[in-house]
Amino acid sequence: MTRLGDLQESVKRLGFQVDTWSPGDGVTRYRFFNRPSDYFGPANGIYTALGFAEAETFAQGLAQGFEMATKPPLTKPCPTCREPIPEPMEFCDVDCCARHYGFGGMA
Ligand SMILES: [Zn+2]
Repeated sequence: MTRLGDLQESVKRLGFQVDTWSPGDGVTRYRFFNRPSDYFGPANGIYTALGFAEAETFAQGLAQGFEMATKPPLTKPCPTCREPIPEPMEFCDVDCCARHYGFGGMA
């Protein structure tokens, strides 16, 4: 498979597509779309990269965003009961821990 084929495959898995245009100045344009389209339309495209390296960088950004949007948020263990809690929280909302930290529950 060509490197363009690889690029097209990888963005297709994320729900995007890419089409190219070489105007003859030595720099191939890679236009990315979030719906079916050819380079010149009908869609406007979400980004046009100049050259393959830039196209690949943008595709890596798409992949990173997709990964962050689909995986659960970071967790850490509650300092008291060790239950996993979302990263920004100080402690879990289990009754014993809420009491321990002086929030709600029966003090
Ligand atoms: Zn806890």
